[in-house]
Amino acid sequence: MEKELISVIVPCYNEQEVLPLFREEILRVSSEMTEKHPHLEFEFLFINDGSRDKTLEILREYSEQDSRFRYVSFSRNFGKEAGMLAGLENSKGDYVVIMDADLQHPPKLMPQMYEYVSSGEYDCAGTRRVTRKGEPKLLSFFSRSFYKVINKISQTYIVDGAQDYRFMTRQMVDAILAMPEYNRFSKGIFSWVGFRTKYIEVENTERAAGKTTWNFWKLFMYSLEGIFAFSTAPLALSVVVSMLLFVLAIVFIIIAVVNSAEYLAIIAMVCLVGGLNLFCMGVQSQYIAKTYMEVKDRPRYIIGETEELYKKRKER
Ligand code: UDP
Ligand code: MG
Repeated sequence: MEKELISVIVPCYNEQEVLPLFREEILRVSSEMTEKHPHLEFEFLFINDGSRDKTLEILREYSEQDSRFRYVSFSRNFGKEAGMLAGLENSKGDYVVIMDADLQHPPKLMPQMYEYVSSGEYDCAGTRRVTRKGEPKLLSFFSRSFYKVINKISQTYIVDGAQDYRFMTRQMVDAILAMPEYNRFSKGIFSWVGFRTKYIEVENTERAAGKTTWNFWKLFMYSLEGIFAFSTAPLALSVVVSMLLFVLAIVFIIIAVVNSAEYLAIIAMVCLVGGLNLFCMGVQSQYIAKTYMEVKDRPRYIIGETEELYKKRKER
């Protein structure tokens, strides 16, 4: 049987504590898979997203010991979205799987994902959280509301609880890479490209070691990113709101005139209209800002080092 390569992509930001655990686990699972399917080969592609700990040193060491371990190291922190993109762009596999370094995306699900996709029945297998155990209540509430809102106002359906843990065919990866946008919201991109996706339902898993870099504010901004990147409904919203306001203003003026309390009404209206004006401008400026970033078309990430560059540098 012809050889098939699976690329495992792992974005890493300050993951020195968890990397040894991850390596052990991924090696265990991948050798299990090659035992069962001897035609399978692996490459493990780590993206060092400007870590400030020993992540890069550890990755260098791994790649020196085992040539299947590769890495792309950014010149600074560009965020997980850029990390995933760099992984996809630099992967060579017939299949590509993206997973977190902290073992919250258990590598042991990979064999099952491979079966789904290699059977030809699906193009992608991903995981979906069915519980939000261990997550703050308020955060769960906001997450749920986010999915409700975005699925109401965007044509792209985003599955609630779907994670970034995905096993895909090369065709799907190429489709994702054909989307060149600067403001990347992977959850939307994955579903926009279509393809048949199998969701494996999982429980929430705790991080194996180290700590998360996400907080409420970052998640909130990320959800706005999703809305502005995949829907233009907020633009229409501002038009509807301003029309309503116009009607309201007329009603208020009539009431004020009848009761001869004009000055109160005027002050109220000035505040209201002024506030809403600013709100609508705010919404518009979001899209202008996004357009600005797209037009500038800056690189999504900058590579500072890879295992190949490092080897060459050392040989000299
Ligand atoms: N990550 C990254 N760049 C960042 C932040 C995170 O590459 O700026 C990686 C991180 O190393 C991990 C994955 O993205 O492999 C998920 O991050 P984390 O576990 O902090 O997020 P959570 O699981 O809490 O959503
Ligand atoms: Mg995590």
